[in-house]
Amino acid sequence: MYKKLFIPGPTHVRDEILAAQTAPMIGHRAKDYSDLQAAVTPKLQKLLYTQQPVFIYACSGTGLMEGSLRQAVLKRALITVCGAFSKRWLEVAQGNGVPADSVEVEMGQGFTPEMIDAALSKGDYDVLTLTFNETSTGVMNPLQEIAALVREKYPDVLLLVDAVSAMAGAKIEFDAWGVDVVFASSQKCFALPPGLTIAAVSERAFARARQVPHRGYYFDFIDMLKYYERNQTPATPAISLIYALNKQMDDILAEGLDNRWARHIEMAEIVRAWARQHWALFPDPRFLSNTVTTVTNTRGISVGDLNKALAERGAMISNGYGTLKEKTFRIAHMGDLTVADIRWLLAQIDDILGLA
Ligand SMILES: *Cc1c(COP(=O)(O)O)cnc(C)c1O
Repeated sequence: MYKKLFIPGPTHVRDEILAAQTAPMIGHRAKDYSDLQAAVTPKLQKLLYTQQPVFIYACSGTGLMEGSLRQAVLKRALITVCGAFSKRWLEVAQGNGVPADSVEVEMGQGFTPEMIDAALSKGDYDVLTLTFNETSTGVMNPLQEIAALVREKYPDVLLLVDAVSAMAGAKIEFDAWGVDVVFASSQKCFALPPGLTIAAVSERAFARARQVPHRGYYFDFIDMLKYYERNQTPATPAISLIYALNKQMDDILAEGLDNRWARHIEMAEIVRAWARQHWALFPDPRFLSNTVTTVTNTRGISVGDLNKALAERGAMISNGYGTLKEKTFRIAHMGDLTVADIRWLLAQIDDILGLA
């Protein structure tokens, strides 16, 4: 049976978006493709409030962790770790032989600018990685405030941001905030099938990449920029997915960006209020995510059984991540889900568990 996905990726994809992928194939060195990339790129720049290039890669988001770290570090990276996805940055650094230290907080906690300041001041760093929205714990870090601190006190530190579960669901003012690389996969707040990663790159990041001798090949920002100027990519792009992205960007801009951010906040507030009434919220209240809520399983129910009962009604939520399995569960409220979808889901859970 079809299940509507309330999991933090892949998220529910509307039928019109699925259909947009079936347009006829075109040559990626032909004008048809350049026209497509030229059409979609300014829409992505609007989404990120940027004049900088926005690249479209054929890969999942993890690719840009590797790609951005490899071409940003000349000295040493500081990796902020507040859960499983932010820890991946450290694994990527180790896997690539990139010098890095980590600063870690307990699960459910996030980072304040003061904590970042204290950690950066202890070493000679030229890169900071931040996971805007830590999907494993439902923590949203204060990106704008952290970016302001970095730009003011650490001008040579590049800020690399994983916004995989936030971009297109929460506001990111790439230029005004002073972020250096931000990226997201297509299967989360963009509400597209998986397979694309969208990435914006600052002038500072391009300048750094030019200085890095072995910056890798597939993700090379300088090479991407050369092709970008003629609306192409060095390797073959995922054309079908870009058709879907182009349609989705029209729909996102038609909704209106401010409306889209407000809808995500409204959905989050509904889930939080319900969680406070019947359970408890897992994260520190200072860091609640606008795109996914992690609920502490204070009633000791079987999350697995709840999901089986939800499946019969056509919905799916997420169990807790890793060691948080069965101790927490996660409800994603991102992408094209609506307030009505969220109310419907919570009513189903209430009914299954006899909460209402
Ligand atoms: C899902 C997720 C990832 C992994 O993205 P992939 O597209 O699977 O590579 C990384 N970071 C965060 C915050 C995520 O939510």
